[in-house]
Amino acid sequence: MGLRLYGDRPDPFPRSDRFELVAHSRGGWEVATVTVGERSGYFVVSLPSVGVAAQMVNVDQPYAVVGLILAALVAQAGQGQGMTGAALTPTPLRVPYVIAHAGEAVPQRLRFARRPLGRLRLVYDDPRRGDMACGVLRARVLNNRQGAPQWRKLNTLRQWRCMLKNLCQVCGQDARDPATGRVPWITTATAFRVIPDVPNSGYTSAPATCRACIPESLGTCPRLHMSSAVYTVARSEPAAVLADMFSPGPGGLAVHTGEHNVLVGLNEPHLLRSALATQLLVRIDDMRPLKVA
Ligand SMILES: [Zn+2]
Repeated sequence: MGLRLYGDRPDPFPRSDRFELVAHSRGGWEVATVTVGERSGYFVVSLPSVGVAAQMVNVDQPYAVVGLILAALVAQAGQGQGMTGAALTPTPLRVPYVIAHAGEAVPQRLRFARRPLGRLRLVYDDPRRGDMACGVLRARVLNNRQGAPQWRKLNTLRQWRCMLKNLCQVCGQDARDPATGRVPWITTATAFRVIPDVPNSGYTSAPATCRACIPESLGTCPRLHMSSAVYTVARSEPAAVLADMFSPGPGGLAVHTGEHNVLVGLNEPHLLRSALATQLLVRIDDMRPLKVA
C-alpha cells in the first residue's frame, strides 16, 4: 500500500485548514482518502472503491482509520470474487465506563471559606453534602454519559467509584476475580509510579480492568500498546488525588494557580485545603505479573 500526503492540494473550493492523506493500493488504485480539519475533531475517511459512505472517526483514534483502510484494501482485492463493500462496517468502539462525556461537565463555582479553626478552605458557592470525598473537595460532574465521549478525560465520579470499589474501568462491573479474590490491573507508564523501597507496589490513577475486558483494552487502546503491563493485586487503598490548585484572592475569591493534575497525598491536609480533586489515586500492593494470552 502507498500513501500520499497533501497539505495544499489544488481544490476548486480551497480550504486552507485541511490536510488530506490518500492511501492507494500497489496497483495505484485509490483506496481511501483521509481528511482532517484543524478544528474538526474528526478524521473523515472516504473509501470510494468499495462503495461505503464516508466514515467519521474521532481524532483520538487514528488506529481505527488504519483499520478502515486495511479493511478497504481487503474488500477491494476481494471484489473480483463477488465481495462487496457492504462487509466493511467499522466495529463501533465501546466507550469505557470511566471516560467523560461532553454533556457531563458542570460549572465549578468556588470560593474560599474560613473554617472553625480559622483556616481557609476551598468550598463550593452552594455547598452540598457529598462535595467532600477522602478529605478533599471533589470536582462536580454529572453521571449521565450524555454527549460525545471525551477520550482524554475521565469522569471524576465514575473514576472515583471504580477506585473505591475495584470496578472495571471498561465495563463498570466488579473487577475482582471471584476465584482468587485478586484484582487484575493494567499499569501504564503515564498512570503508574513505583514506591521507592516497597517492592511489588505502586500508585496508580487508572482503575482496575476485569479479566474479560483486558484483551479489548490492550487491543484497542494505542497508549496501552506502547507501555503497559498486566498484574493482579491483592489490595488497593486510596492514597492521593490529582487536583487543580487554587489560592485565596480578595474577599475569599478562588483563584486558579494554573496548576492542573497536581499529585496531592491524602496525608497533606495543608495542600488538600486548596485543591479541587479530579481523580483519586490508589496504592496497589502485592502486584504479581499476569500472563495474558
Ligand atoms: Zn470489565
